[in-house]
Amino acid sequence: MAEITFERRYDTVEILNPLKGFAHERQQLEIRWDPLLHHSSLYNSGIEAGIKSFIGEADRAMLERLAAESAGRCFFCPERIESTSRFPEEFIAGGRLKTGESTLFPNIFALAPYHAVMTVSHAHWLPPGGFTTRLIRDALENAWKYIAIVFETNAEATYASLNANYLFPAGASVLHPHFQVLVSHVPYSYQERLLDACKCYLKEKGSAYHEDLLAIERRTGERYIAQNGNWHWLASYAPLAANEIVGIHTGNGDFSRLTKDDLDNLAQGLASVLRTYSHLGYYAFNFSLYSRRTPANRDGFHSLIRCLTRQNPSPNYRTDDYFLQKGLESELILTRPENLAQAAQPFWS
Ligand SMILES: [Zn+2]
Repeated sequence: MAEITFERRYDTVEILNPLKGFAHERQQLEIRWDPLLHHSSLYNSGIEAGIKSFIGEADRAMLERLAAESAGRCFFCPERIESTSRFPEEFIAGGRLKTGESTLFPNIFALAPYHAVMTVSHAHWLPPGGFTTRLIRDALENAWKYIAIVFETNAEATYASLNANYLFPAGASVLHPHFQVLVSHVPYSYQERLLDACKCYLKEKGSAYHEDLLAIERRTGERYIAQNGNWHWLASYAPLAANEIVGIHTGNGDFSRLTKDDLDNLAQGLASVLRTYSHLGYYAFNFSLYSRRTPANRDGFHSLIRCLTRQNPSPNYRTDDYFLQKGLESELILTRPENLAQAAQPFWS
């Protein structure tokens, strides 16, 4: 096992603050770097203290109105699900996969050679706390079956991701709860950086990065949240997004080889993440789970899921993806990761 260095530096900003009668104010800025991928994240305690002005409150009445307006024409609702696209019969008999309340079908605008959408619930609208373990579990099982079929059908298909956009600030065009699964012959940019970095780390240190990370995070306990089965949950030291919680699987990184217990535990963990977000007042979220087909040789990669929050939905919400992210490829830490881990722990017990 190798030690991991958590790099950071502090800078001081001095201003005469008009909100405090132009009093002299010193703000401390903390810059952190991700130990594996080296991206930076910025933290200013003044922003965490005034967080409400950054994220705003979710307009629940507006969401309920939008849900009522769109329910009658939603193709993801059970009454119209048979009108969604289908796979060719020779690929998937019956054209769609069904598990519990979840139906999986092809995305009509594919972003990968294999791109499916799966509904999560019969209900047209759920707040984040309404994503129960059972609903998530059934959607995960659909993704698991789909990835296994793709891997069996096409020996070149290797890279799989499971993703979610929930509500319009997170990129969803349909309000109805749904996840998406992509399988491709090449890894997309972030997954490629992650795979390459894991491979390099294994070569240099002789151990897998995420095993070393978990050993250190469990020992210090500052950002470690909980374990359920083979999944370990923690707040990222240098997050790439607001309120980033990561679930790391200790197995071989191939989603199609997860056991039923692994799926149960992943669903339980994900439901706990969403209850944490709900408790903190966030409605919109994304997640991505990265996986790849079992390779011939050990590559040091572990499957992991990154969950994050987005701006709250309201008529005049502001994007959280501006020059800092798009131009400078850095990220603002809204909740200090150590505080986030503490806030999340009760939702796993
Ligand atoms: Zn619907």
